[in-house]
Amino acid sequence: MEWLGLRFGELSNGSALLLECSHNGFLVLLAYLIACAGSFATLDMADRLRHTEVPRARTRWRWTGAGCLAVGVWAMHFISMLAFEAPVDLHYDLVITVASLVIALAAGCLAVDCMGRPTISWLQFLCTGVGMGLAIALMHYVGMSAIRSHAAMYYDPALFSLSIGVSIAASLATLGIIRHFRSGNGAMQHVLKLSASLLMGAGFVSTHFTGMNAMNMAMHPGHMFAPVTTNNGQQLALTIAAVTLMILAGSVSAAIADKKLQGKEHDLQRVNALLSQLDQARASLQHAAHYDALTNLINRRGFNQIFADKLLEQQASGGKLAIMFLDIDHFKRINDSLGHAAGDELLTVIASHITHAVRHPDDVVARFGGDEFCVLLALEQQQDAEHLARRIMQRMTAPISIAGRRMVMTTSIGISIYPDDGTTSEELLKNADLALYQSKDSGRNSIHFFSPSLRTRATLELQLEEELRHALREGSGLELFYQPIFDLRSGTVAKLEALIRWQHPQHGWLAPDRFLGVAEANGLITELDSWVLRRACRDLARLSLAGHPSLKMAVNCSASTLGRDALPGEIADALAKAGLKPERLELEVTENALMSNIASTAGLLNQIRELGVSLSIDDFGTGYSSLAYLKRLPLDTLKIDRSFIQDIPASPQDMEIVQAIIIMAHSLRLQVVTEGVETLAQYEFLQSHGCDYLQGYLLSRPVPLSQLGPVLDRLRQRQDPAVGRVGER
Ligand code: C2E
Ligand code: CA
Ligand code: CA
Repeated sequence: MEWLGLRFGELSNGSALLLECSHNGFLVLLAYLIACAGSFATLDMADRLRHTEVPRARTRWRWTGAGCLAVGVWAMHFISMLAFEAPVDLHYDLVITVASLVIALAAGCLAVDCMGRPTISWLQFLCTGVGMGLAIALMHYVGMSAIRSHAAMYYDPALFSLSIGVSIAASLATLGIIRHFRSGNGAMQHVLKLSASLLMGAGFVSTHFTGMNAMNMAMHPGHMFAPVTTNNGQQLALTIAAVTLMILAGSVSAAIADKKLQGKEHDLQRVNALLSQLDQARASLQHAAHYDALTNLINRRGFNQIFADKLLEQQASGGKLAIMFLDIDHFKRINDSLGHAAGDELLTVIASHITHAVRHPDDVVARFGGDEFCVLLALEQQQDAEHLARRIMQRMTAPISIAGRRMVMTTSIGISIYPDDGTTSEELLKNADLALYQSKDSGRNSIHFFSPSLRTRATLELQLEEELRHALREGSGLELFYQPIFDLRSGTVAKLEALIRWQHPQHGWLAPDRFLGVAEANGLITELDSWVLRRACRDLARLSLAGHPSLKMAVNCSASTLGRDALPGEIADALAKAGLKPERLELEVTENALMSNIASTAGLLNQIRELGVSLSIDDFGTGYSSLAYLKRLPLDTLKIDRSFIQDIPASPQDMEIVQAIIIMAHSLRLQVVTEGVETLAQYEFLQSHGCDYLQGYLLSRPVPLSQLGPVLDRLRQRQDPAVGRVGER
């Protein structure tokens, strides 16, 4: 070890003079503080390293950490050397001193390599600790060998070994502290960090002073004691301390700044994550707000937004748009008879039919709620809208199986065109709606384009509604006409059907088809029906007094009236007020009204039937009623719809149907009325096939009460109806 200037062993007696050496207390303290500052800075760098993922930044913090430890330990060592006071001149070899700094850097690198690894085995930890300890010891003894003086240095082997041991122990402790030191922001964490730094500093200083303790300086007798030149060691020590502290402070400041920056980055990331979460939440809200959950089509709100955009587009480009309203015919009936689940299933199938019929991806299909759909399409050619409407109707013809039943649905369609029929979305939607009503009015399953005459019709209807309301309130203008129902077996008029008329102040006599739709659409129909009921009972009572005590009265009952629980009570009341027996009243209920209120009607019909009032199913053959269902209802009479009679005898098919209905009705113990009988041929055909009652212009048109007497008289006197045609209204 001579090459390192290390000489071991006892000084031979008398051959050399042992020098009395000491340390400057102030500089020792300074050295310790520098060691602590270096440790503190190193812990700070380790903390940064742990919180940085970016590889380049990690390398930077690793080198800064290695530098802080190296500078701290080396400066501690050097200042401690300057604290050493001996009665001889001491100088330092610069090259060797710098070499010792390089060795300190190697020790720092080992420490930082250890702190940079995510995991480390005990063996690796031990090896690094030992390597680092040896490097620090080496730095110390290389630093010692930089001393140039007339005295010789001898080392005590035991203390020398101990200094290496202390160095290794201090290094292991340092590594342990670095690896397990957790950063944080609390005050406790700062205290811990400071304590760890003090402990690490103490470890390094112990290494140094154990090494110093191992050293003895001796003068050979031949050497003269040169006077000790003024030592500027203290100044140098302070300079080195200041430079070191500056380096360490710079590193720590950089670490603090980085930490703050990272904190801000984290905040920013958190804010960004929060914003994107908010965005997602907003998007799903938007979806819920703009889409229909059942069919996943756009809903009315979503449609309005898109419609506004499309209108702007077309305004700019001068193109055309078609707005198509679709309403599924008799959907309510399905919903009421098969339940809402089946109704929903049906709607999804229909939605997919409509979507598949649409060809252009930019065209919009929306569900407006219930069974109302709307399609928006850009028109390339005028006929595009009609073609699409026909495609939709074509797809609808495919039977749909739901709830164990196969059914064929139809749809009514109304179309308005931008810019021909309006320029605002409200106007276009309203006009498409008017066109849709036109389709429904004309027997459904049809397509209608908007035309300005519809608009005037709509305004007229609004006015009509007002006037009807007024007429009902005042009891003015409304009138009942009566049409005889002839009993084929007895050859007498057995019943009358009450049919409403309205003498309108401007339009004259209006038939019910002119105003019943308005009444139905505005909820006036129940009021109208109860007015008819009361008036018909009153008139029947008058007829009884006028010599027709056994005539029965048939009164029509609309679907909405049939859905009201108060109906049996109102009927009983009207009968009581007129002083009539319930057996003299018959209620005519259409097939469609029965089917659309299927759940509630059965109970109501039973109550009405229990009063003693008879029930008749009107317009039979036009609806969907199933025989099984009819069998369960407390019905008395079945009225075959006029449409089956009008082509008799020309249509053999209709004749077969009518025969079949009569047989079927009789097997269900129902009496059969045939309405709309206009010719003798029809009369004879029906009589020969066992029909029970006849009603039609052949016998009499509906007439007001005032004209009924003569009609009844004529029909009673001349029992041959063919001779008794009366040409009244
Ligand atoms: P409905 O119950 O089927 O009434 C029979 C309709 O056929 C009546 O038309 C009657 O005038 C007409 N008619 C009778 N015999 C003949 C014929 O031989 N040939 C032709 N072409 N027609 C004939 P109206 O009075 O116009 O009534 C139409 C519908 O209005 C009725 O059909 C009924 O559903 C409804 N309605 C009439 N009055 C009332 C009422 O007071 N309340 C309710 N809710 N509905 C009514
Ligand atoms: Ca009727
Ligand atoms: Ca009828």
